Amino acid sequence: MHTLITGGAGFIGSHLAEALLEKGRRVTVIDDLSTGSIHNIEPLKNNKNFKYVIDTIMNKPLLSELVDAADVVFHLAAAVGVKLIVESPVRTIETNIKGTELVLECANKKKKKVIVASTSEVYGKGNHTPFREDGDLLLGPTVKGRWSYACSKMIDEFLSLAYWKEKRLPVVVVRLFNTVGPRQTGQYGMVIPSFVKQALLGHPITVYGSGKQSRCFTHVKDAVKALIALSEQPEAVGQVFNLGSVHELKIEDLAKLVKEMTQSQSEIKHIPYEEAYEEGFEDMQKRVPDISKLQKLIDYKPAHSIQDILKDVIEHHRNGVPL
Ligand code: UDP
Repeated sequence: MHTLITGGAGFIGSHLAEALLEKGRRVTVIDDLSTGSIHNIEPLKNNKNFKYVIDTIMNKPLLSELVDAADVVFHLAAAVGVKLIVESPVRTIETNIKGTELVLECANKKKKKVIVASTSEVYGKGNHTPFREDGDLLLGPTVKGRWSYACSKMIDEFLSLAYWKEKRLPVVVVRLFNTVGPRQTGQYGMVIPSFVKQALLGHPITVYGSGKQSRCFTHVKDAVKALIALSEQPEAVGQVFNLGSVHELKIEDLAKLVKEMTQSQSEIKHIPYEEAYEEGFEDMQKRVPDISKLQKLIDYKPAHSIQDILKDVIEHHRNGVPL
């Protein structure tokens, strides 16, 4: 079994590559290192079943060749991170839409199965938690840049499902909720690596807004296990799945936990959203997945608590990863 991972040098992609190699699979990664890092795949380079190509998925002849050589494709290449989205909206929209179009087009030639990574962002401002896959999606206006990410991923979902419906291309859409763990960078605004880095450096831990907003955090190892299980489940084809944890944590409590677990002297500082992102920025107050659909199909029991996650992330940063 040969797997192609687009965005395979990224945070989730590199963990996925590692897990597949551990199962004895052949893995090829394509990544343009825009948000991924060569360090993420460094330890995999000695594995004879591992190959990587540093290039963009917009290189259609190359992508086509790589897809042809694979049995299954995990499409993870995307512009991610709220900060990046707010700062580089053109790149976000173009990478997410054109990139997915190309992957699906190439996969369709020989009907290669594609697992498309989507995001809980598509639920937008909806407040009917827990979010179900068949629930309505509620986005804000186009003048607020944040929503372009959700919208671009919704187009990816529509297109993937259309390829299944119209052309019988086997696709599985997975909406990943806040997935965290070692190797995630805080560079694009993600909260856990940002807080851990701030705490270890003794800098203020920056809680945006009231800190009463909550998220459910999943260890990347749990997420990757579920992604692989879904890819192997024929019944998943043509469907959308939430993938995440159901344990809610307020961001202010996360800040306290990080401070405690790092034994940091950092102060916890509240920063208004308009200062953290941009004027008029809208945040989600709550984001909890309904994972019953996923659990009906695969054996999914997240093994890592938030304490396990933080322990791994803190250790990763302490082990000489550049802060
Ligand atoms: N957040 C924060 N401080 C930071 C980075 C993020 O308080 O330094 C907040 C952010 O406003 C959001 C939550 O943490 O409410 C999760 O942010 P992240 O960007 O990790 O994920 P997402 O917003 O996509 O859920």
